[in-house]
Amino acid sequence: MIIQPKIRGFICTNAHPVGCAANVQQQIDYVKAQAPFGEGPKNVLVLGCSTGYGLASRIVSAFGYGANTLGVCFEKEPSERKTATAGWYNTAAFHQQAKDAGLYARTLNGDAFSNEIKAEVINAIKQDMGKVDLIIYSLASPRRTDPTSGETFKSVLKPVGQAYTTKTYDTDKDLVHDISLEPASEEEIQHTIKVMGGEDWELWIKALADADLLADGCRTTAYTYIGKELTWPIYGHATIGKAKEDLDRAAAELNSSYADKQLKAYVSSLKALVTQASSAIPVMPLYISLIYKVMKEEGTHEGCIEQINGLFRQKLFDAAPELDEAKRLRMDGKETNDATQAKIKALWQQVTQENFHQLSDYAGYHQEFLHLFGFGFAGVDYDADVNPLVEW
Ligand code: NAD
Repeated sequence: MIIQPKIRGFICTNAHPVGCAANVQQQIDYVKAQAPFGEGPKNVLVLGCSTGYGLASRIVSAFGYGANTLGVCFEKEPSERKTATAGWYNTAAFHQQAKDAGLYARTLNGDAFSNEIKAEVINAIKQDMGKVDLIIYSLASPRRTDPTSGETFKSVLKPVGQAYTTKTYDTDKDLVHDISLEPASEEEIQHTIKVMGGEDWELWIKALADADLLADGCRTTAYTYIGKELTWPIYGHATIGKAKEDLDRAAAELNSSYADKQLKAYVSSLKALVTQASSAIPVMPLYISLIYKVMKEEGTHEGCIEQINGLFRQKLFDAAPELDEAKRLRMDGKETNDATQAKIKALWQQVTQENFHQLSDYAGYHQEFLHLFGFGFAGVDYDADVNPLVEW
């Protein structure tokens, strides 16, 4: 099959196995170049392991610290006529690399919100790992079925309290325009919290604790985005921000419920960057194109792997890491500091349809977007016939 990108709106509906392997390889090479790593995890469970921040967490765990990794993801397998999703190919590439390096890796593909996958993970840990000492919670999903009631909840991306009009960039139509977003209803807020809040994170830790699979001093972190004034109306102070506040509640609950295990639960705030999840959020492609411009000029630009490498080395395994007012670990300072934000705000005010490509780094945004699906890598021949049927 000749595989060229098929972009529909904010998503690419296919993926390139060789390009995805190149993406994984680049991240592994980056991590190996950061050696030596200090004390860190040995047995890691990564929920949402196949793309974005979760994949980077798995790569740092395995290729930085030499840890065994068990991953959970929700990806589509390939067929003769259709490619798999990028996360499938990333996972296959990760497995190949882990095997070559003599590292244990196992991945379960299924719904992490379900009781069935939790039971499968528990069996896998019992069989292969003993106990886990790090659990990464990096799911990004538009819906969740409650495992007890069977009810399916959908998240929405809407402001809270009042309508909001702002600039956005439509990547499909190459158009800078205003969008008006109506405020969410109370029900929509609650449903978004059900999907992206802390409940499922707590259920995971409870299931592991009940099965006696948490190592003493085990750490767990869930990822959040806080941002600043430009993104608050649609993110930080919006429905998704309410769900993320619920992670702070869950972290406090976990720390007190499992104090006997000396569990350390943190919410870690990461910077905005292009992933499948963030490209679906209105405003984010425009905001990210502008921060890429500013942060590349400042020399502070980072991708998933640099952020997670920094989080693990500087914060997560520190005995007494610096925390913010809500007891979170912060890796987003290079984006959210006042000087950088002032430059981004100035660009934001100036940006129009006419000057968007000069003022922003949309070229960089688009390049990274293509990379997410295994496209746009210099060493990959996209005219070559490749077999989409890749397994792990
Ligand atoms: P992503 O879309 O790249 O990854 C999501 C992962 O979750 C994938 O591995 C996917 O397979 C998995 N997944 C989704 N639904 C699942 C399900 N039902 N069962 C099992 N696995 C499932 O997303 P990302 O941007 O890396 O986001 C991960 C976390 O990081 C999210 O909490 C997000 O809010 C946070 N974050 C993202 C950004 C950003 O700019 N992208 C910034 C800060 C924090």
